[in-house]
Amino acid sequence: MDASSPGGRRVDYLRLSITDRCNLRCTYCMPPEGIAARDHGEILSYEELAAFARVAAGAGIRKVRITGGEPLVRLGCAEFVGMLSRTSGIYDISLTTNGLLLPKYAGELAANGLQRVNISLDSLDPGRFSRITRGGDLEDTLAGIDAAFSAGFSPVKINTLLLPGVEEELDAFVALTREYEVHVRFIEFMPLDRRVAGDDEFGGEGHLLPAGDVLRRLMQEHVLIGHDGPYGNGPARYWKVAGARGTIGFIAGVSEHFCESCSRLRLTADGRLRTCLFSGQEVDVRPLIADPGALRAAIERAVAGKVFDRCSEALANERAMSQIGG
Ligand code: SAM
Repeated sequence: MDASSPGGRRVDYLRLSITDRCNLRCTYCMPPEGIAARDHGEILSYEELAAFARVAAGAGIRKVRITGGEPLVRLGCAEFVGMLSRTSGIYDISLTTNGLLLPKYAGELAANGLQRVNISLDSLDPGRFSRITRGGDLEDTLAGIDAAFSAGFSPVKINTLLLPGVEEELDAFVALTREYEVHVRFIEFMPLDRRVAGDDEFGGEGHLLPAGDVLRRLMQEHVLIGHDGPYGNGPARYWKVAGARGTIGFIAGVSEHFCESCSRLRLTADGRLRTCLFSGQEVDVRPLIADPGALRAAIERAVAGKVFDRCSEALANERAMSQIGG
């Protein structure tokens, strides 16, 4: 029997964070000095993560997204994909990455069963990209996008946060959808951890750009045709510019809550199970991994207690996105 919430809503999607370390320092995600990374011993081993995924699959999880931190900085990520793809019940494995290490690992990831990737790319302007990422090189992420296509991942989605200045780049992102079959998703910044980037040029609640405003601006310049979006389209709404190969989507997680359709569980790299990005509530399931029956009961309890309107609650996070798993 699948685990389901009180309203019978299906929870079939697991986001697994495999590390809290990252090779970028995006202003909205981390303070300049970074976040003290957990010791290796605090992080679940791949065997523990795979054991969790097996039990979660028994409780109804069908789709797994690997994330972090930056998942590709952890050695052995491709082999871990192989472990997941041999897990009965899980039919969809995806990865969220900043793309920097895709030229190195994309082929190996695909060979081990990775089907699709989301690549975070907040700017197509080299200077703005470098300021947002605190020193990243746009060319490295673009090389990652090329590598994703060469490896045959499909769909290739781009995550672009709606940060100040993005309005000036809308034409460049439209051009990207003409050149590549990419699905650019503009995502509202979520004020998760107030310790991060409160006054930064690109962070902080005061900088929230509502998706609807940016969509209206895009519509003034381009003829957009409504589109069903790519496979695995979650809460985004998509449009296509006539003649483009890819699409443009918007994820309005703050201005329009979509909690009621949430199908997600999250496991942090240190083994805390969370049912909501916004809530600070978490269950330490690491001690239960050796006992599949107890672990399954804990997962089912968490799903049964999942609240579907957390966005309306006061935020109570002790973790930044890099520590939860975005
Ligand atoms: N390092 C990987 C990457 O860059 O995609 C995976 C982890 S990163 C935390 C995952 C996603 O979370 C990125 O697309 C990032 O833009 C997004 N993110 C981080 N902080 C966010 C916030 N406060 N609101 C909305 N999205 C956020």
